[in-house]
Amino acid sequence: MSKVLIIGAGGVGSVVAHKCAQVPEVFSEIVLASRTVSKCQKIADSVLEKIGRKIEVREIDAMNVSDLVKLIQEIKPNIIINVALPGQDLAIMAACAETGVPYLDTANYEPPHRAEFRYEWQWGMNPLFKYKNNQAVLGCGFDPGVTGVFCAYAKKHLFDKIYNIDIVDCNAGNHGHAFATNFDPATNIREVTQVGRYFENGKWVETAPIINKDGSRQDFRQTFDFPGAGPKEMFLIYHEELQSLVDYLPELKRIRFWMTFGEQYLTHLRVLQNVGLTRIDPINFQGKEIIPLDFLSALLPDPASLAKNYTGKTSIGVRFEGEKDGKPKTAFIYNICDHAKCYKEVGSQAISYTTGVPAMIGAKMILTEKWKGSGVMNVENFDPDPFMEDLNKFGLPWEIAQDENVPKI
Ligand code: NDP
Repeated sequence: MSKVLIIGAGGVGSVVAHKCAQVPEVFSEIVLASRTVSKCQKIADSVLEKIGRKIEVREIDAMNVSDLVKLIQEIKPNIIINVALPGQDLAIMAACAETGVPYLDTANYEPPHRAEFRYEWQWGMNPLFKYKNNQAVLGCGFDPGVTGVFCAYAKKHLFDKIYNIDIVDCNAGNHGHAFATNFDPATNIREVTQVGRYFENGKWVETAPIINKDGSRQDFRQTFDFPGAGPKEMFLIYHEELQSLVDYLPELKRIRFWMTFGEQYLTHLRVLQNVGLTRIDPINFQGKEIIPLDFLSALLPDPASLAKNYTGKTSIGVRFEGEKDGKPKTAFIYNICDHAKCYKEVGSQAISYTTGVPAMIGAKMILTEKWKGSGVMNVENFDPDPFMEDLNKFGLPWEIAQDENVPKI
C-alpha cells in the first residue's frame, strides 16, 4: 500500500493518474499536482467517473525546489512520477534527493534555451541519490522506456550478442488538425528540428535534420513495413535512449532511431522553420522578450485535446541483429496501440497512453521492489521480465517476430 505523487497534469499525467487508479493494491493513495490546479481537478473528476476512485489535487510550481520539498514533506509520498516537462526534471530530482523519495520520469532534462538532449545532468545526481540509498529511474515512457526494456529482454532471452539496433516509431493516426504535436509542442519540435545523430563503430555520426535549410528532406529516410500500419517512410533522428543503450551494450556496432512523419506535418514544419517560429532563442517583440517556439506552442492544440477524434494506430518497436549459439539472428519486438481504444479506456490518445502506462508500471516495479537499486539508473539496467508481463496486463501487449518474419531495413 503506497502513496504516489504524480507531477504534471497534461496528456501523459492524465493516463498515469487513470492507470495508477486501476491498481489500488499498489497505489492506495494518489495525489496529482501541477502548475494549473484546474487541469488536475478535471483529471480527478474523470478518474472518479471512470474508475470510482478519489484522488487529491494540488497546485505546484515544479521549478521551485523549496516548494516541492514542502509539498513532499506534507504529503509523504512513497514515490514521485514526474510527467511535467523535461525542464522540471532537475528541480524535482533535487527535491527527491533531499527528501529521500524515489523518482521516476519519462524524458531527459533539457536546458530551456538550448536544443540539447543528454543524460549527464541527471546522471550527475547519482551521488546524491546513493547518499540516501534512494532510487531514480530515468526515461520510463515508451521511447525512451519500453524500448530500453525490449533491449534488456532481447539481451536476456534472445541473443548472445547484439550488434545492430534500430528503434522504429510510427504514428499512423489521424487527429484531424492541419498541424498539431502529440506531446508538449516545444519538446516535440525541438526534438525533430535538431540534427540527426546515430552511433556506429564506436563513434557518433551526425546527419542532416529531417528538413534541410533549403527545404529539402533528409537523405537518410527509408521505408519500413510497420506491423499494423503498413509501409511508411521514416526519418533518422537523435533520441535520448541511444545514449544510455550504447553504455548498456558495449558490443553494439550500430544503433539508430527512426520516426515517421506525415506529408502535412512536414510541410507545416518546413514553413514554421522558414519563418523562424521554431527558434528557441529570445527575440524582442513589442518591447517584450519572447521565445518564438513558446509562442507557437501557445497557439497549437493542447496534446490532450487531440484524443477525442483520433483514429488509427501507433506501431513502435526495436529491431535487433546479432547472434545466438554462434549463428546470425534477427528479431523485432513491437507494440501496436489504437488511439480510439485508448480514448475509450482513459480518455487519451495513444501517444500519451503509450507513455503513461509504462510510467505507472515502472513506479509499480519500484514500489513492489521488483526493480531495486540505489542511485540514478535507466530502465534497461533492471530485470525486464516483470515489466514485460505488466505491459501485457495493462494495455500495451507486445509481439516478437524472428528471423525471416522480421521487417527488412
Ligand atoms: P503536456 O504539455 O500535455 O503536459 C505537461 C504538464 O506539465 C502540464 O500539465 C503543465 O502544466 C505541467 N507543467 C509545466 N511546467 C510546470 C511547472 N513549472 N510546474 C508544474 N507543472 C508544470 O505534456 P505531455 O503530458 O504530453 O508530456 C509530459 C512529459 O512526457 C514530457 O516530459 C514529455 O517529454 C514526456 N513524453 C515522453 C514520451 C516517451 O515515450 N518517453 C512520449 C511523450 C511524452 P500546465 O497545465 O499549467 O501547462
